[in-house]
Amino acid sequence: MEEDKSLVYKDEALRLAQCAAALGEVPVGAVIVRLSDGQIIGRGYNTCEKGRSPLLHAEMSAIKEACAFLGGWRLEGTAMYVTLEPCTMCAGAVLNARIDSVFYGTPDTGVRGAAHLLKNARCYEDERCAEVLKTFFGNRRIKMDRIKLVKAETDDQLKRTAALADEIWHEYFPSLLGSAQTDYMVNRFCTFEAEKENIRNEGYIYYIIKKGGEDIGYTAVKPDGERLFLSKLYLKAEHRGKGYSRQAVDMHREYARKNGLVSVWLTVNKGNFVAIRAYEGIGFKRTGSGVTDIGSGFVMDDHFYEIKA
Ligand SMILES: [Zn+2]
Repeated sequence: MEEDKSLVYKDEALRLAQCAAALGEVPVGAVIVRLSDGQIIGRGYNTCEKGRSPLLHAEMSAIKEACAFLGGWRLEGTAMYVTLEPCTMCAGAVLNARIDSVFYGTPDTGVRGAAHLLKNARCYEDERCAEVLKTFFGNRRIKMDRIKLVKAETDDQLKRTAALADEIWHEYFPSLLGSAQTDYMVNRFCTFEAEKENIRNEGYIYYIIKKGGEDIGYTAVKPDGERLFLSKLYLKAEHRGKGYSRQAVDMHREYARKNGLVSVWLTVNKGNFVAIRAYEGIGFKRTGSGVTDIGSGFVMDDHFYEIKA
């Protein structure tokens, strides 16, 4: 193939990667070229987020389009240009489709690169392909990883908080406390009415934890003498283990400092090892233990933890 022509394909793959980036998708783009006439017969970029599927890599979409164009699944006599080294799945698809050769712009420096599975794969080392990925992941880390605490004050916000509590508690606590106690605690402490009462009578402050536009959890605190009591901090399952609890705790510590309080303290069930590990990881120190009767024959068997504001 003439050198100029291949530049067109590389640029087109890059342009597709940039489309993906603009849509919040991992920026990888691919084109498939018919070697007999140099025509691009398939284009694709990553759409895993939009399509909610790990299958929607740029290469897969380009292969699908090329097959539709040619009216069959055999892509003999074609070449693929893709901005990133294909993964195992895509390398397999390239083999199954009988694509003659693959040219990729940058190696996958992670564990997924699978060019070694392909006989005719060559890296053309285009800085721009790596750059678009680097920029994307850099920006995403800054933009996506920050949570916001939105004070829940209106009835609508408090109802959303109660709904989050209902969902998270029923997902998390039955294995720890049993279903009966979980139901009891949700109905007693986590309803819209219970929240209203906590706010009115005890000075609780509720927050919805938001990431992007999404409600991902909730948290509640209450000034308690010279300390701030962290009563609730719950995240939906898919948002745990990403450092959001630490961010929320830091925000509560800041609130405590600003209000002249010396520390933040909390109680955690003795058997809740996941939460204990998380709190200790954040820097909370155990200050004691105790059993609290919460009525109807149920007790809370807790450790107490505290961290400086
Ligand atoms: Zn892939």
